[in-house]
Amino acid sequence: MNEFDWQDYSLETQAIRAGHKRTPEGEHSIPIFATSSYVFDSAEQASLRFTGKQPGNIYSRFTNPTVTAFQERLALMEQGDRCLAFSSGMAAIMAVGMALLKAGDHVVCSRSVFGNTVLAFQNYFGKFGVTTDFVNLTDLAAWEAAIKPNTRFLFLETPSNPLIEIADIQTLAEIAHRHGCLLVVDNVFCTPVLQKPLNLGADLVVHSATKYIDGQGRCVGGAVVGSEELIEKDIYPYLRTGGATMSPFNAWVFLSGLETLAVRMKAHCDSAFELAKWLEQQASVAKVHYPGLLSHAQHELAKRQQSHFGAVVSFELTGGKEHAWKLIDATKMLSITANLGDVKTTITHPATTTHGRLAPEVRAEAGIKDSLVRISVGLENIEDIKNDLLNGL
Ligand SMILES: *Cc1c(COP(=O)(O)O)cnc(C)c1O
Repeated sequence: MNEFDWQDYSLETQAIRAGHKRTPEGEHSIPIFATSSYVFDSAEQASLRFTGKQPGNIYSRFTNPTVTAFQERLALMEQGDRCLAFSSGMAAIMAVGMALLKAGDHVVCSRSVFGNTVLAFQNYFGKFGVTTDFVNLTDLAAWEAAIKPNTRFLFLETPSNPLIEIADIQTLAEIAHRHGCLLVVDNVFCTPVLQKPLNLGADLVVHSATKYIDGQGRCVGGAVVGSEELIEKDIYPYLRTGGATMSPFNAWVFLSGLETLAVRMKAHCDSAFELAKWLEQQASVAKVHYPGLLSHAQHELAKRQQSHFGAVVSFELTGGKEHAWKLIDATKMLSITANLGDVKTTITHPATTTHGRLAPEVRAEAGIKDSLVRISVGLENIEDIKNDLLNGL
């Protein structure tokens, strides 16, 4: 099956089979097209390709068959018309801003987004006359109140990091559209296996493929998914000019990552849920943040919006920073790193790493306590993960 319509197949099948246009060699696995340029049959064909009158490869900054396969597969999985791949998640986020914003525009962004996303809007788009207001992710009234006549889009991540708060994507899409702006959702924590923001009304989805899509911590990459109109008119011309292209080798790694994404996400989520319930019973744990727990403020919303509760768990210890550091240092197996979405379980202290550059009062306002520890639950045996944590609990 070659030129095949995978639209009617389920996500698990699309993840394994979509996007591969088999060459005359009959290869079963997608090849890596390690070529920067392509040869045309004639001068006329070259001209038709360059002017966009004929589809086909031109130059690997913006057309490469391995990268195209990744794009087609991820677009189907997110149920978007089109996907474009980038060299990193941040390059994908920068592309959305560069393509959609101009001087004088305004953005409303969740306060709880990836640190470099905050810097992108504040320091870089800010430098060119774009203003950004940051709001509380779960406060719908604050989102609406922050919108101005010149607001171009709302930007959020759900669940948030590290407090695993959930945003109501459908309601925020309605609010955005009522005011004539777009909604952009960073879907890194859920992947399309758990949540499809475009189906809930979002206009663009951004990804860091570096996390769950790779799943084994090997490559850095990113993607933007959305309607044919937004991608073709705005994002694609920027990719062609901006040049933050995904390499064919990385696309090939991410393609095989997608093939196992559904089974990995389910296993990640099952272990995270079990770990969250177990942590809640530990005497030295004061509070567990995990949307699967009935104690989570947006448990019902998470149940409605996601197919599973995710694989990142954070918790507060009864002590302060010393207690948190002691717990982290007492683990033998877990990796002490801020990365996430890996088969290897990682543990981190947000207050002194990912959020360490924030002023103490800003951090306190964001609810990131000194006693908070974040775990990205991997695929090792869950009993081994618990036992490793018991060393310090
Ligand atoms: C890692 C991450 C990014 C940035 O992606 P890179 O691939 O590291 O550039 C953006 N958003 C979220 C939620 C992330 O976890």
